[in-house]
Amino acid sequence: MTLARTLSGHEVAEAVYAELRQRLKALPFVPSLRVLRLGEDPASVSYVRLKDKRARELGFRSQVEVYPEDFPEEALLSRIAELNAQEDVDGILVQLPLPPHIRADRVLEAIHPLKDVDGFHPLNVGRLWSGGEGLFPCTPLGILRLLKHYGVALKGKEVVVLGRSNIVGKPLAGLLLREDATVTVAHSKTEALPEVTRRAEVLVVAVGKAHLVRKDWVRPGAIVVDVGVNRVEGKLLGDVHPEVAEVASALTPVPGGVGPMTVAMLMANTLKAALLRRHGASL
Ligand code: NAP
Repeated sequence: MTLARTLSGHEVAEAVYAELRQRLKALPFVPSLRVLRLGEDPASVSYVRLKDKRARELGFRSQVEVYPEDFPEEALLSRIAELNAQEDVDGILVQLPLPPHIRADRVLEAIHPLKDVDGFHPLNVGRLWSGGEGLFPCTPLGILRLLKHYGVALKGKEVVVLGRSNIVGKPLAGLLLREDATVTVAHSKTEALPEVTRRAEVLVVAVGKAHLVRKDWVRPGAIVVDVGVNRVEGKLLGDVHPEVAEVASALTPVPGGVGPMTVAMLMANTLKAALLRRHGASL
C-alpha cells in the first residue's frame, strides 16, 4: 500500500524565512512587532514566546507586553491606541483567547488595520472578501502557501473546508475563492458530512476534534490538510485519523504541518504591514 506524501510545514516555513531574511536585510529600516498578552494561559505563553523568538531571529524588532489576567478592557484599548500612534511600531498582535471580561471584538477593532498582523480587523476581513489588498489571517495564508509550495493547483478544483471559524475556516474559504477554487464550507450542522467531504479534491479540516475524519470520509487521491491541534493524554493529535494516509495522496502532519506555517505567515504579515504603511496604503 502506498501511503500519502507528507507535506512538511517546517520545510516550507524555512523557505519563507530564508526569503524574509533577505528582504529584511535589504530594507533601510527595521520593521517591528509588538505582542500583547494577558494572563498566563500556558498555550498562549508558549505561542507568544515562539513568535517573539522567531521575529528576533529573522531580524525584526520584537517586544512582548505582558499584563495581568484582570487587566481592564479600557486600559487595553488605551494601550492599543498608543501603539497605533507610535511610528516605530509596525505590527500589533493581541494574543487570543482573551479573558472573559474583555470583549475580543472591541479589542480587534481597536487595532489599526494597517498594523493588524493577525488580519482580524473587519476592514481587513472585508478586503479579503472583496478582493482588495490587506492583511489576512496567518493560518489560512499558511495553508495556501504550503499548497502552492508543493505544486497543488486550486483553480477550478473542488475544495471542502471543514470548520467555519473566523480565524481559519471562513477566511480560508475567501482566500480559496480568490484562487478560483470551487469552495464548500461544512460545519457541525452539515448533513451527511462524510458525503460532503468525499467530494473534495482538496480537503482542509479545522474542527478541533481529535481524529474525527476517517478514511471513508476522504476521496481516494485527495490532498488533505489537517489544521487541528488537540492535546490528548500529553500528545498533540490532528483532526484527521492517521488511517487517512492510506487513501489520500498527500497529508500534512500534526505537529509539523500547518502550525509552523502560521508563525511564518505572521512574520510575512509583519513585513507586509511595515511596507503597506510606509507606501501609503489606504486601509
Ligand atoms: P473553532 O472556532 O472551535 O471552530 C471549529 C469549527 O468546527 C466550527 O465551525 C464548528 O462548527 C466545526 N465543528 C465542530 N465539531 C464538528 C463536527 N463534529 N463536525 C463538523 N464540524 C464540526 O476552532 P478553530 O479556531 O477554527 O480551530 C480548529 C482547530 O484548528 C483547533 O484544533 C485549533 O487548535 C486548530 N488551529 C490550529 C492552528 C495552527 O496554526 N496549527 C491555528 C488555528 C487553529 P459550528 O460552527 O457549527 O460550531
